[in-house]
Amino acid sequence: MTKIAIVEGDGIGREVIPEAEKILRFFLPNAEFVKVELGFDQWKKTGSACSKENMTTLKEMDAVLFGAVTTPPDPEYKSVLLEIRHELDLYANIRPVKSESVDLVIVRENTEGLYSGIEEIGEDKSTTLRVITKAGSRRIAEKACSLNIQRNQNTPLVIGHKANVLKSDILFRDTCITVAESQNLPVRSMFIDALCLDVLLHPDRYDVIVTTNMFGDILSDACGYLTGGLGMLPSANIGENHALFEPVHGSAPDIAGRNIANPIAAVRSAAMLLEYLGMKTEAEKIEKAVQQTLSLRIVTPDLGGNASTRDVGENILAKISEHQ
Ligand code: ATP
Ligand code: MG
Repeated sequence: MTKIAIVEGDGIGREVIPEAEKILRFFLPNAEFVKVELGFDQWKKTGSACSKENMTTLKEMDAVLFGAVTTPPDPEYKSVLLEIRHELDLYANIRPVKSESVDLVIVRENTEGLYSGIEEIGEDKSTTLRVITKAGSRRIAEKACSLNIQRNQNTPLVIGHKANVLKSDILFRDTCITVAESQNLPVRSMFIDALCLDVLLHPDRYDVIVTTNMFGDILSDACGYLTGGLGMLPSANIGENHALFEPVHGSAPDIAGRNIANPIAAVRSAAMLLEYLGMKTEAEKIEKAVQQTLSLRIVTPDLGGNASTRDVGENILAKISEHQ
């Protein structure tokens, strides 16, 4: 039996995930859904943001649907999501950016770079270590190459880096080039700052972009501009043995608890989860229903509408049911 963990987390995670969960249950009526409580709220209640039992449960699942967790800027508080990505070795963060005129995907290395968590925090000096390994660069490059082949858009694989200033990026860039060349794939290597601007100006020139951890984080938030905002972007965190699907956005405490958060990023994350389980047709049905809901203008305030989170979720589900 398929086992799916449902993690709502904090803030708007608690509002958008139930909408995505309804759709998952519709397509997976026989799956076992296991609710896992973790995040900042959990830390406030119990002193632990993610217990050992939680981590074990996550590891036993076929896939995890994840909302968002708040990370306070407290140096003592370690990001739970980082911990989960490390524990489950979710090394590839796949972030599709798709709208009527845009279709690209950012492949972000998810376990090292500037988010490797090796830091020394002091009064007068703080340092964060940026780790790049050949093995880490190779496996993310392989993932990006296989996506590039699968998508078959005849567009070179783009490597986003800053190897002129950050010498650690020479290893990343060169490893990516070697992997791509060994598969006879054309590559284009670009400085991440120039890439950020160019992708916003000419998104049609891009297909798969592979980059390191923090650059990928920033680049994908910026690409939210191409699709109507953060509320639209889903993501997958994939490892050898585990997979977690989550919206690109965070817990958005500023709009939490008001039933106005856009659930589309979460719903699209559920679609990616189904695709991962081999249910591509079902994933396509979800996307079609999202498109229909958008064209009916049943949208939340971030997209200029006045529908609630629940209205949007229920509408998408209704459209899916109509087509079954
Ligand atoms: P994190 O550190 O967890 O990534 P963040 O500080 O980047 O969090 P987000 O939660 O990603 O913040 O949100 C940034 C802003 O975008 C929020 O203030 C919110 O107004 C808006 N936003 C994010 N997600 C949504 C959504 N699903 N619907 C509507 N607005 C959203
Ligand atoms: Mg963010």
